[in-house]
Amino acid sequence: MKKLIIGNLKMNTKPSEFKNYAMTLATKVKGTKNDVVVCPPFTHLHLAGELLEHSKVEFGAQNISDEEKGAFTGEVSASMIKDSGATYTIIGHSERRGKYKETDRLINKKIKTALANGLKVVLCVGENLQTRTAKQATAFVKKQLDEDLKGIYENELDSVAIAYEPIWAIGTGKVPTNKDITKMMETIRNEIEYLYSAKAKEKLTVLYGGSVNLSNYKKILANDTVNGVLVGGACLDVENFAIMCKETY
Ligand code: PEP
Repeated sequence: MKKLIIGNLKMNTKPSEFKNYAMTLATKVKGTKNDVVVCPPFTHLHLAGELLEHSKVEFGAQNISDEEKGAFTGEVSASMIKDSGATYTIIGHSERRGKYKETDRLINKKIKTALANGLKVVLCVGENLQTRTAKQATAFVKKQLDEDLKGIYENELDSVAIAYEPIWAIGTGKVPTNKDITKMMETIRNEIEYLYSAKAKEKLTVLYGGSVNLSNYKKILANDTVNGVLVGGACLDVENFAIMCKETY
C-alpha cells in the first residue's frame, strides 16, 4: 500500500546543509511508490523549490501565519510559502501549541488560510501523558478535531491529512502499542464520519508521528490503519529517512 512519509526538520540544518540533504533525498527516493515530503525551515523553502522541482519529493512549511499579509513582523504567509513551490504545511504541531501557545481557534484560522491559498495541510493532534494516564486521550483528540476543523467544508478535507502525534511520544523514544495506534486511528476516522460523512471517513489520510525511527518504522507502517508517518528526529539523517521512504508497505 502507498504511504505518505513526511520529514519535519524542525529548526535544524542551514540552507547550505539542506542543499546536500535535498539533493541526496531526491536521488535516493527515485522510483518509490510512496509520497515523500520534507518540511525544512522557512529560510530554505525557495531553495527547496529550485532543488526539488523535477523530483519525486514534495516539500512544505512547518507552520504558517494566520494572516494573509501586512504588518505582522516575523510572520510568513501561506501565499509566500505557496510561491516557493511548496505544496504542504504542517499546522498545530504540539511544539507550537505548547511553546507558542497556539490555540485551537488560531489553528482553525491557519487551516482556513492554508486551504484558501492552495496548500495541503498536515494537522497535528495528540494528547500529553497526563491526559493519557487519565484515560482522556480519545476525548481530547476528538475535541481538537472538532475545534480545529470548524467551518472546513467536506470537499476541503481532500487537502487535509491528520497526524496523530501523542506528545509523550515525540522525541522520547516511546511509541504507543500497535493496538493503541489502531484505536486512535479509528477514533479519528470515526470523528470525521461524525463531523462529515462516511465518504469523508473513507477518504481520510491519517498519519502517525512520535519517535518513528529505523528500528520501528516497518512495524508502524505495516499497520493498515496508518496511511503514513510524520518523522522528526530520525529524518535528520537523510540516508535513514530515504530508507523509510523507499520501503514497499
Ligand atoms: C515531530 O516532532 O513531529 C516528531 C514526530 O518528532 P520525533 O519523530 O522526533 O518524535
